[in-house]
Amino acid sequence: MPPEPPRPVIGLEVHVRLATGRKLFCRCAVDDEAAPNATTCPVCRGAPGALPVPDPAALRLALRAALALEATPSDTLAWHRKHYRWPDLPKGFQITQQGTPLATGGRIHDLHADGCWPVATLHVEEDAGRFDVRDGALHLDDNRAGVPLLEVTTPPCLHDGDAVEACLRALHATLVAAGVTAGHLHHGHLRADVNVSLAADDGTPGPKVEVKNVGSFRHAADAVRAEVDRQRAERAAGRAVDPHTRAWDGRASHRLRAKDETAYRILPEPDLPDVVVDGLALTRAAHGLHRPLGPWLRTLAARPEVAGRRRLARVVAAVAAGALTPATADPVLAGLMPADMPEPARPPDVAPQVLADTVAAVVAAHPVEVDRYRAGDTRLLGWFLGQVMGRLDRRADPHAVRTALVHALAP
Ligand SMILES: [Zn+2]
Repeated sequence: MPPEPPRPVIGLEVHVRLATGRKLFCRCAVDDEAAPNATTCPVCRGAPGALPVPDPAALRLALRAALALEATPSDTLAWHRKHYRWPDLPKGFQITQQGTPLATGGRIHDLHADGCWPVATLHVEEDAGRFDVRDGALHLDDNRAGVPLLEVTTPPCLHDGDAVEACLRALHATLVAAGVTAGHLHHGHLRADVNVSLAADDGTPGPKVEVKNVGSFRHAADAVRAEVDRQRAERAAGRAVDPHTRAWDGRASHRLRAKDETAYRILPEPDLPDVVVDGLALTRAAHGLHRPLGPWLRTLAARPEVAGRRRLARVVAAVAAGALTPATADPVLAGLMPADMPEPARPPDVAPQVLADTVAAVVAAHPVEVDRYRAGDTRLLGWFLGQVMGRLDRRADPHAVRTALVHALAP
């Protein structure tokens, strides 16, 4: 029998435009139809001395997303500058929360089957501008520079193009139902960076290739299939896969640049001090709801004609703002459901013993990764999470898996 082809391992970084109508650190409007460079100011163009002021509306929407995705908000609000050199970046850096994500954990409920995909992190950042080369000249458009984005990342827990498409559709529908984003794909309101690698023969993840800025569900699935085929062909020809980034043009991908994390320089944002916030209260609000929001949103997302969607978004916003307690929000949520809509069931969780056995089996099967994790490479936690979720057919609660893993991996 021929050997099994190496298994793809895929993680997502999804950029979703927050529906505030204005930029993240200035008062410029966000207008998809505006003439090039019409909606810019000294702040979003990075004029020396111009100071950023974060828009609370963007942070409220991001916290609403954390509730909708059942993620755990952080207790610290921190901003960093991510410096890199590219024509689409008028300031020379992007302000992001990548270093200290706004929230961690959580899950994306599958719209059409039991199960979910784990969320690794959620953070807010500003979008870059745009450029293109026409008639031999570089044309810059800074309208998009500073537009508020929510970035949602998953651990490398997906294995094929169909799963990537289903996961992106579910994330999009959930965030639209929660009122976090308008979700217009044709205006680039959701763009995914797809990280694809092939597992080595011993199951460890291989070199990672990132296909950047894929703007449609179908394209994401196609880009994954093409990249898996390309990497398999490289391997079959005896060539090593080198880590790099690629762009997808709708039919094929082409190489952009070598993957070089040292090309970025990430420093604390000196104009925005860290703030300690009461993320714990939000977490309690999220977890105290008698009905977790995820299954409700999933039910509503699958029924776009239901009039309760907009009102549901307002209830979620009120909980996030602390205006409604879990006890008072619960009957309101129940009242929003149309009479013909069955009570959404929480996805079946696995028995604690099954979870413990699976975590133990995954840890025992990967001694090399365990050593690396214990030596400080804690990014592997997401990879372990993907392994356990995969073995449990995505039925487990990612929070419970994460807790069990942290315990099992402790030195
Ligand atoms: Zn501006």
